[in-house]
Amino acid sequence: MEEPEYIRLVKETEICKQCKNIVIGKGNLNAEIMFIGEAPGRNEDEQGLPFVGVAGKNLDNLLGKVGLTLNDVYIANILKCRPPENRNPLPEEIRAHTPWLVEQIKQIKPKVICSLGNYSTKFFFADGEIDKMDKMPGITQVHGKVKMIDFHGLKIKLIPLFHPAAIIYNRNLIDLWEKDMEIVKAEINQRGLM
Ligand code: URA
Repeated sequence: MEEPEYIRLVKETEICKQCKNIVIGKGNLNAEIMFIGEAPGRNEDEQGLPFVGVAGKNLDNLLGKVGLTLNDVYIANILKCRPPENRNPLPEEIRAHTPWLVEQIKQIKPKVICSLGNYSTKFFFADGEIDKMDKMPGITQVHGKVKMIDFHGLKIKLIPLFHPAAIIYNRNLIDLWEKDMEIVKAEINQRGLM
């Protein structure tokens, strides 16, 4: 069978030729809530799974606080491959890697997406149009603000959150994150997602 276009696009990028593993995602494909980060780091690249390093431990911990496990969520990233030295994603990489993410979202059909950090949040605010991402508000302005989006025909509640790696050593951000997670928790309870 011929490889889908969205996989071919990822494989053609330079970061894909340099990485050890393509990191697709983890969790429950029937989950109603997705968490979407930025890009795999070193540990993720080694193991082929998202959020398994320090940021991942932090994410597990934060999910645990609102009673969520991997069985309740699906976790993926904007980029499927690790950029060298964990540098920021380039627009052309986002353009080539996000069609696969869009496929995942169409398959999972989540009711809620928690975008983790600037790149993921801007991607959804820009409605998937990479050229518009730059002009979108940053995470500091929009974290914890629920926004209804129509994404490829799916009605989704977007809840932007600080990136788990950004908050590790920042007490102020940890407090803000915990407040934001109350919103996620209310959404989960209201929907009876657990
Ligand atoms: N940071 C991310 O955004 N994604 C990962 O998978 C790991 C760290």
